[in-house]
Amino acid sequence: MDLTFSDQEIEFRDELRGWLDANRPGEEPRGDQDAAFEFRKQWQRSLFEGGWAAVHWPQEYGGRDASLMQSAIFFEEMGKADAPLPANALGLILAGPTIMAWGTEEQKERFLLPILSAEEIWCQGFSEPEAGSDLAAVKTKAVRDGDDWVVTGQKVWTSAAQYSKWCMLVVRTDPDAAKHKGLSYFLMDMEQDAVQVRPLVQITGEAEFNELFIEEARVPKENVLGGEGDGWNVALTTLMNERSGLGFFLQTRLRLLLDRLVEDAKANGRIEDPVVAEALGEMHVRTETLRFLAYRGLSIIEQHGQPGPEGSLTKWLWSETNQMLTQLAVSVCGPAALTEGEAWAHDLLRSRGNTIEGGTTEILKNIVAERVLGLPRK
Ligand SMILES: Cc1cc2nc3c(=O)[nH]c(=O)nc-3n(C[C@H](O)[C@H](O)[C@H](O)COP(=O)(O)OP(=O)(O)OC[C@H]3O[C@@H](n4cnc5c(N)ncnc54)[C@H](O)[C@@H]3O)c2cc1C
Repeated sequence: MDLTFSDQEIEFRDELRGWLDANRPGEEPRGDQDAAFEFRKQWQRSLFEGGWAAVHWPQEYGGRDASLMQSAIFFEEMGKADAPLPANALGLILAGPTIMAWGTEEQKERFLLPILSAEEIWCQGFSEPEAGSDLAAVKTKAVRDGDDWVVTGQKVWTSAAQYSKWCMLVVRTDPDAAKHKGLSYFLMDMEQDAVQVRPLVQITGEAEFNELFIEEARVPKENVLGGEGDGWNVALTTLMNERSGLGFFLQTRLRLLLDRLVEDAKANGRIEDPVVAEALGEMHVRTETLRFLAYRGLSIIEQHGQPGPEGSLTKWLWSETNQMLTQLAVSVCGPAALTEGEAWAHDLLRSRGNTIEGGTTEILKNIVAERVLGLPRK
């Protein structure tokens, strides 16, 4: 992949910089989760109105048909501007691309635009109390009743469910078929009494995710994505987008955090300590490695049209590095990084979930071993 920007790419970057200068997102509210979500929703609306909500989407669905390099520029510029993640990140990065890959024309027509405008927020209903890493073990079941499917079961760790209109739901539609084959992928309306959302409070004090209790919820047959029984393959499309789609955004975020830590270390003199300096140097090497891995991920999409299993490597390295960096902040900043309400303290606590969400590190290592390196399956 050629990493030199063409004239067209420079023009794209300058147009985006101009727009960002004129449309600064401002400071995200701290300590009030609902206010922060509303702030991110407004930010997405403003991106949408400027035509920047999903540059990588085709123009016919409201995107800009951006090349992969332009998408990379977009995420890097957003990171540099310290822009918040749009409220409907799961819709933009997971649901939208999965609907584009598997949806009927009617589904694309119905669902894509409100994802882009943040009018309809999406959540991902994959994990269950006994099905996390082993997604094919889902027990939530659906039975056919006329033109509807009737769904009963429990999901857990469902991020943003309390704000969502729609859920990407993996359910068992054929209890007699082999584990992976009996699954289907539904687009479930969350606004029905049969779906109860109960927030779960995390170590940060926020309740980003929830339990979902589903008792005979109805999903019309038009809202099955892919065919009945295709749920496993459709879910893999979502997961591969999850692990590679955030790559660029996360690595630019990491660079911002590292720059902030270096500034803190300079300000309090800790940078003079060779142990601290060496640790910061290692963080720099890891952050640069991630940047190149993110570009490599783009080349793979360019060659194969879809993200590959290599996205697992980026996610593994990012989550580990983010945890190391936030721990290093404690050595550099001392008690200030452990005080409630301080940004470093929040980031330190939140980073614990990084090696679990979107696939645990152990599972990602298995994928890298088997599907990237071609090592034998155990
Ligand atoms: C912040 C956060 C947000 C999340 N948001 C969502 C969401 O929006 N939607 C959603 O569906 N889920 C979400 N999740 C859930 C997440 O996807 C699961 O927690 C994850 O897949 C692990 O599943 P589990 O918790 O059931 O752990 P388990 O699968 O029970 O794993 C327990 C331990 O065993 C290890 N293990 C399991 N199988 C193997 C194996 N084959 N080889 C080696 N080790 C193994 C795991 O690595 C882990 O250490 C979120 C999680 C977090 C932390």
